[in-house]
Amino acid sequence: MTKKEINPYVTLICTHCEFYKEDDFDLECAAFKVLKTMLQNGRITPVEIKDALK
Ligand code: SF4
Repeated sequence: MTKKEINPYVTLICTHCEFYKEDDFDLECAAFKVLKTMLQNGRITPVEIKDALK
């Protein structure tokens, strides 16, 4: 993975996570992988993620 801050999935998901570290480039937890796959498949939208994190 490239630097986390330029990965749109990391920006959308990880920057709201209490375990997020800017220098952790490669680690992807199970929740991240599930949400990323659901976003890629169109099962959830970025807006729904943002709404859930309000
Ligand atoms: S990969 Fe998982 S644990 Fe790590 S910052 Fe993203 S959501 Fe949090």
